[in-house]
This record gives sequence, C-alpha cells and structure tokens, in this order.
Amino acid sequence: MEKEKCDVLIIGGGGAALRAAIAARENCQGRVALVTKGALGRSGCTALACSDRMAFHTTLPYTEPGGQDNWRYHADDIYRLGGRVSDYDLAEILAKGSGEAFAYLDELGVPFVKRADGRADQFVTDGSIYARACYTGPHTANHIETALVKEVRTMDIDIFEHCMIADLILSTDGRVVGAIGIWENRNEFVIFDAKAVVLGTGGAGGAFKVSVFPEGMTGDGYAMAYRAGAELVNFEFIQFGLSSVTTSLACSGSMMRAIPRWINDDGHEFLRDYLKEGTDLSEIYNIVFNKGATWPASADAPSHILDIAVWHENRRGQSVYLDYRANPEGLDFSRVDEKIPQWYREIKDIDVSKLEFAESPLARLRGINPQAIAWLKERGVDVAAGEVIEIAPAAQHFQGGVKIRTRADTTIKGLYAAGEVAGGQHGAMRPGGNSLMDSQVFGKIAGTSAAEYANSLSHRLTDKRINIALKTVKEKLNFTQGLPATEIRQRVQDILSTYASVVRTINGLNEGLQRLSGVQSQGLRVDEKGWVYALETLNVLTVGTLILEAARRRPESRGTHLFFKSEDVTNIYFSKLTTDLSNVPTDEKWQKYIVLKKGADGLIYEAREPVTEKF
Ligand SMILES: Cc1cc2nc3c(=O)[nH]c(=O)nc-3n(C[C@H](O)[C@H](O)[C@H](O)COP(=O)(O)OP(=O)(O)OC[C@H]3O[C@@H](n4cnc5c(N)ncnc54)[C@H](O)[C@@H]3O)c2cc1C
Repeated sequence: MEKEKCDVLIIGGGGAALRAAIAARENCQGRVALVTKGALGRSGCTALACSDRMAFHTTLPYTEPGGQDNWRYHADDIYRLGGRVSDYDLAEILAKGSGEAFAYLDELGVPFVKRADGRADQFVTDGSIYARACYTGPHTANHIETALVKEVRTMDIDIFEHCMIADLILSTDGRVVGAIGIWENRNEFVIFDAKAVVLGTGGAGGAFKVSVFPEGMTGDGYAMAYRAGAELVNFEFIQFGLSSVTTSLACSGSMMRAIPRWINDDGHEFLRDYLKEGTDLSEIYNIVFNKGATWPASADAPSHILDIAVWHENRRGQSVYLDYRANPEGLDFSRVDEKIPQWYREIKDIDVSKLEFAESPLARLRGINPQAIAWLKERGVDVAAGEVIEIAPAAQHFQGGVKIRTRADTTIKGLYAAGEVAGGQHGAMRPGGNSLMDSQVFGKIAGTSAAEYANSLSHRLTDKRINIALKTVKEKLNFTQGLPATEIRQRVQDILSTYASVVRTINGLNEGLQRLSGVQSQGLRVDEKGWVYALETLNVLTVGTLILEAARRRPESRGTHLFFKSEDVTNIYFSKLTTDLSNVPTDEKWQKYIVLKKGADGLIYEAREPVTEKF
C-alpha cells in the first residue's frame, strides 16, 4: 500500500482548497500536498458551476457607501441576512478580508469586468443593500478556479488527482494525523501521513434528487468530520431555487424578469390556482418578476410562494415548465407594478409596452439575455424553437457545515476547514456572491493556520492508527448483503427531496428520518460503480440524516428553512398569495444555531448562542 508523507494535506480542488494550498505553501516549512477527486480544475462547484452572472462579493475602498469602515455594512448584511444565527466576528473577517481576496485574484489575472475608470463594476445581489458583487460573466467561478490552478501548478505543491479521501485518521488523543485515500477506478488505498489537514471538500448537492451541483458533490467532508467527532452547525440551512431539471440552469434573473407562463403537464397555468379569490392576476406577475432578484427560497422573500407552488405541483405528480412562447394569461404591462417597465427602461433601455417586447416572454428574454437562450440551446433546450423548460426546486448551496472559528480551526486539533464545507460564518441565508469570496478569505486563513500548526509539530501517525482507520473503511466495502449502492443513493435523494427541500414539517422530517434509518438498516452492497461511489453514497446517507436531524430541531421558519405546522400548505399558505409573512414567524428564542456532533451513543445536539461580539 502506498504511503505519502506531508506536513499539510489539503483535501479538495475547488476555490477554498486551492487558496489554502497557496497560503500553506507560503507559510509551511515542510511538504504541502493537495488531493482531489477527479482532475484538478475539473471537479467541484468553483470549477464547473455557472449561472447567468456569477457574483464575487467584495468591499473595495470605493464600494458603496464609501469610507474606511464600509466593510462594516457588508458584515452587517451577512449577519442580518443570515438570520443572526452565525458568528458575528466571522462575518467581520469575511467582509474585512474580501477586498484583499479580490485584489489577489485580480492580480492572478481573473478577468473581472471593469468600468472606464478602471474600477471593478459592482452590482447588488439578493440580500445585500449596496452594490458589491464583481463578476466576469456566467463563468466567474470557473475563471477563479483556472487562475488558482495555474498558480498552484507553479508552486512546490504535490498534487494527487483522481483520489477520494475516505476518512480522516486520528491519534490516540483525538488529533487529526492523516487520511486514507482511494484511487478512483483502481480500488486501491493510499495513506497520507500529515501533521495538519485542511478540508475544502465543498457541499452536498448529491444528497438531493434535483440539484445544480456538479457530479461528485456528496458531502464527504461533512461526513468524515462528523465521524471524526467534529461539531457541525447550521446544517438545516440549504438554498433551494427553481432550476432547469435537465440543464441545471438556475432560473433566476432574466429567466424570471421575462415573465414566462408557468404550466404543468396538463398545459394548465397553475399559479392562478394558488391565488386568493378576488386578487388581481397582476399580483402573480409582480412576484414572478421579483423572483429574478430573490432566487433561493427564503422566509424573508415573498417570492418563496412560487417555490412552494412548484413543490406542491410536483408533490401531486405534475411536472412544471416555464413556457416562453406566449404571454401568461392576463399579463398587462399597464397593470403590473410600475417598477417592472421602469426596470426594463432604465437597465435595458427597453419599452415593454411596445409590441416587439409585449408580445411574448421570448421577445423579452431575447432583449435582456440572449446568452441564456444560446446557453440552453447548447445543452439541448431550444427555447427559441418553442421548447419549454422543466423546472423544480434544486439544491444550490449549504450555508452550514463543519464549525470553524476565527483561524478556520474546527473543534478537532489539526483539522481546518474552508469554503462550503465550513460552517458558522454564514447563517440561515447568505447574500449572493459571498461563497466564492468566503472560499478565498477562509481558504487563505485555513492554509496559513494549518502551516503554522504543522511547523510546530513532528509526525505522529503510527501503524496502529492506520490499521484501525483502514479496518473501518474496509468493513464498509466488504459488505456483501444489502441494497446496491445505486439504489441506496436514489432512495436517500428521494427521501431528502420529499421531506427536506422547500417545505418542511415536523411529521415529514420525522418520517424522513424513519425511512432513512430503514434504508440504512438494509446495508449497502458495493455495485458495479465501485468503491468510491459506494463510500460517497454512505456519506450521502450520513449527510441526509444530519440535515433531517438539524431541520426537525428548528420549529420555526428562518432564512432558507421554511417550516410549516402541517403538510397541507394549500390551506395555510396558498390561500394568501400575498407579501404578508406573518404566518412565517421568526422566533427570537431560536436566535441560536444548532450544533450536531457524534457522541458515544449516537448524535448529540445542542442549541447554542452564536458569537455576537465584534472582532
Ligand atoms: C450553479 C451554482 C451557481 C453558484 N453561483 C454562485 C455565485 O454567483 N456566487 C457565489 O459566491 N457562489 C455561487 N455558488 C456557490 C459557490 O460556487 C460554491 O459555494 C463554491 O464554489 C464552493 O467552493 P469550495 O472550494 O468550497 O468547493 P468546490 O469548488 O465545490 O470544490 C470541492 C472540491 O473538493 C473535492 N472533493 C470533495 N470530496 C472529496 C474527497 N472525499 N476527497 C478528495 N476531494 C474531494 C471536489 O472534487 C472538488 O474539487 C454557486 C453554486 C452553484 C452550484
């Protein structure tokens, strides 16, 4: 069996891991290694995700509202939008460090769009008050990944590709001292002997049936940190947004502002069914337009009503489609909110009352975002030729994760975390563009902290500890009974999408847990997809359980967690298609985050006050 020795081991190949590797290299006296599933630069969200305009949120010296302390407004936005269930000092670190993170990427050659005066062009994203989002276009994240990979390849960093880390190895006193890897397609083990480990393994879209995450995002980091005894926090908070089922395009921004028809399998425009009697149909179209700027379903944004309507149609067996061929019934631009024609006029210089734009959503989409039409066509949906787009609520981002503090340190010595795998820096929601920025700010901190820790230590990995860890992994793979991994994965995704997406109830969450435990008790058998797929599937099972456990412990709605007393949401909700959110209470006594941890007899749970002091 192969054995690799390094001082700092970085797990992952996305924005957080790459930034951590660079910082570790700059600060570590010994060897730095990076190990990733898939090919470097070709796996994870930073490398592969894209949307109509991907945002990198940052406060620069000239960012609104200006002044030396302008980053404080940014920190406030993160904390406020996060429903006050994140650590305030971590929000401050993010906001304060964002300018430097941007400057670093800019210097590496990320082609951020600049204005004539050379300053970065910044726009307002959901949840923030001021224009802070920088961008290169639909591929901002991919450009960041490319620039970081290029830099990492010039440095003295050992890179191991196509290798999945299956588990962390602990010393007798509970420190992380290494990790077990499995070569993809080879079914062979490799041991990493490391003084410090950084997790940069991203989120877990693979736990849900519909997700805009790329393949392979199965929450391995959450699951291995949990098994090792680390604390996880805010795991109930996951962003869901209406997305194209076949292409994974997030149908936000212009896709909504074009105001398409929303139809089900019967070709029926179903949104009106959810309208309170006597309400003007235009009210729906105002909400559809506003969805463009409030994409992930959130208790704070009235447009979550649309996500719930789609969820409900799906629940009763109907698929849902956006149709751009003809205007929705009753759409009349003289009756909708004046802000809609005004937006078209001011932002796009378009007069929506003119026949050219008034005649169809397709005409408007062509006018405001022809690239989206081309993007969809390349992926097999020809909207211009009259094809409709099937949509469903899709998982897009995990706000919670492995609990970190100011040095990106987790609750286990020697283990650091950054990017989407980390938790505590974001709360119930995050302003758009803050994840890419987070991956850079805490990526750098994690790499630096891990290097400093490793510099002060000698290696501690013993054969005994390797054998204990290996035995556990091998046992999982030697199971010959039970359900094939592929079937288990599908069952878990079904359960999570049914009970833990946009509509959650206590009965549903409990039933989901019961069904997951039923799946688990049957055991997993490695199938033709091999060891890596099987271990990922077990991770998805663990992640699914943690999501349901966290969600059922928050009996209120906050941010992305929409909690209902009963599944019959039609009665309590749809009868009131309105901006009144009084039936979605945010309880002050729940201004705490939910911490989950593995105890000797199973899961331990605690509701804990976040850090509210300033840094
Ligand atoms: C469609 C979409 C649009 C988005 N838009 C925005 C946006 O506009 N602005 C914004 O800020 N954020 C956005 N996000 C979120 C953002 O892209 C991610 O949060 C961010 O890229 C995560 O970076 P990361 O480095 O933490 O993880 P990732 O980039 O996902 O990288 C994780 C890496 O870990 C590797 N890995 C995982 N498990 C293992 C293992 N067991 N062993 C070895 N390697 C492993 C993966 O292969 C991958 O290389 C979007 C996300 C999606 C899906």
